[in-house]
Formats: sequence, C-alpha cells, structure tokens
Amino acid sequence: MLDDWLSATLEGSVAGRPARGQPPGGRYRVHGEGILELTPDVTAPDARSVVISAGIHGNETAPIELVGELLAALEAGRLALGAPLLIILGNIPSIRAQTRFIDTNLNRLFQRGLDQEGEEPKRARALMHAVDDFFARHRHRPLHLDMHTAIRDSRYPRFAVVPYTDGQAETRPRSAWPDLAAAGMQAVLLQHRHSWTFSHYSRHYHAAEAYTLELGKVRPFGDNDLDALHGMRAWLAALAQGVPPADGNVADLRFFQVAFELMRTSDDFRLTFAEDVANFSEFAVGERLAEDAVSGPFVVETAPLSVVFPNARVELGARAALLVRPCGLPGSP
Ligand SMILES: [Zn+2]
Repeated sequence: MLDDWLSATLEGSVAGRPARGQPPGGRYRVHGEGILELTPDVTAPDARSVVISAGIHGNETAPIELVGELLAALEAGRLALGAPLLIILGNIPSIRAQTRFIDTNLNRLFQRGLDQEGEEPKRARALMHAVDDFFARHRHRPLHLDMHTAIRDSRYPRFAVVPYTDGQAETRPRSAWPDLAAAGMQAVLLQHRHSWTFSHYSRHYHAAEAYTLELGKVRPFGDNDLDALHGMRAWLAALAQGVPPADGNVADLRFFQVAFELMRTSDDFRLTFAEDVANFSEFAVGERLAEDAVSGPFVVETAPLSVVFPNARVELGARAALLVRPCGLPGSP
C-alpha cells in the first residue's frame, strides 16, 4: 500500500513488501530505499515531471509529514494522480536518528564525479542516479521541490532558495514567482554561485526548475503545524494531479541576493552575534560579524547585510553564513 510505504521505510520493514502496486488512477514502483515513482494511467494536460524530496536533513520532519499526507490522499483517491512523480526520502539513517546527518551534510554532495566514501556520499550517488533516470524518461517541464525546515527562527519562516544557474538564457530554467507566492513562501533568496545542493543538481544537470524550500522551523514528528503550510500542501496536490497551481501575488514575496559567503578559514573562528539569531536578521554598516585568525574580521561595508544560515561550527573551509541584501523582482532568470 502506498500510504504506509513511508512509515515502513522509516521503520526499516520494507523487506518482503511488493515493490509495485496500483493506487487509484496509476501505478507505483519502489526503485530503492526511500525512492518511489508514481505514474498516472492518464497524464493530465498540464502535468509536469516532478521530483519531491524530503528528509535530506534527517531532523526536518514537516516535509516528511507533507509527503505522507500526499501519498495518503492519492491512495484514498481524494486526489487523482495525473502527473509522473518521483518521491524521495533523503537521509534515512539520520531521519531514524532524528539528527541532521550521520557523518556529513548530505546537501553538499550532489555533484557528478563525487569520489568521497561513506554513507552520505553513497546516498548522494543513489539519489543522483534516481533523478537522472526519472528525468531521462520524463522530460516535460521538469520541476524539483526539495523541502526542508530551518534550525533557527526566521523573519520569513517560509522561503525559497533559488540555486545559481548559468548558461544560455534560452535554455536556462525559469522560476515561477507566482507559484512560490501561492505556496505561501514569504521570501526568495537568489544564490550567487554554484553550491552542490540537491535542488542545484536538478537545475544544473537537468535544466529543471528547482528550489530548496525552507518551511518553518525544525520540530519533532507530530509537533509540526501543517496548517501553516496549507499553501505548500495545495501546491503538491496540484502537481500530483497535473493541474495548474493557484495564482499567487508576487508582491507578497521579498527578494534577496547573496552578497557574500562568510567562510571559516581557521580553527580560531567566531561569529560575533548571538548563536540563535533569526534568519534574515539585519546588521548595519560598521558592525563586525565575524573574527577569523587567518582572514581577520568581517565588517559590514557600504550597505546593511542580513544573515542567513549562520553556523560557526562548520568544518574548516566551509561556509559559516550567507550574507544577503534585498533586491528587486528579478526578471525570470
Ligand atoms: Zn535542511
């Protein structure tokens, strides 16, 4: 049964269960642990080819609950399957352990030619393969939604990160700002260079429209307020049925562009602000944000900067925070 695939996967009790089945209006196939493909009997006229991933960070449970709801609605026939879907549960050992990751951050590893060893690199390779295989067979208006929740509070609890995209303007995937607004996003953050996240993988290698979606704050299973995510729930339902999403008002979105990445370059490194500062907190010109024994202090110059995803305890050479500035409505990149 479709609707207990998720719990069986997390319990590790999938062995011996059928890898295929027929929910109303289509069929499903389990390609591997936490990798489920749904194919409609009849593809709807507005259908897109959609990858939906959750649990790339294991303690981010609200997206997993949204996936569970979606599968239950399809199994019960409350939603009619009308589009090809690839559903992915990312880091299963870390979901079971209720931790962000086991050995290393999975969401930095989605790059072809990855030669690291270990559980997370192995999982990244399996997921890249699954996405390659799916988009090779389903090319129509490809879309990847990689759903997360954030460790800290945020001035904008729900926001989309748009991976950096280069190449020819004609072949670059477009972003659909009205769809993000209708899904309840409050802000959009535009990346300024490649970072090897799962959503970047689909943009970069498959020219898919793709986002990392931050959907509120990390909470344990059962403690999430899914009603606050009703816009996201409606978007997933529309995509599964292959119907156009609700119309959103782009004026509801605040746009930000990454200006700097604060990198940790020494063991003697610290961020000068409170550890629990909310995402998008703004710092004025002249404020010192970090001290690093090698690269020296980082001071805000020219115009205020807002901090997103700060984490002083990253590995050496890794990013300790994104520093962003507001920007106008970007042309569809
Ligand atoms: Zn995450």
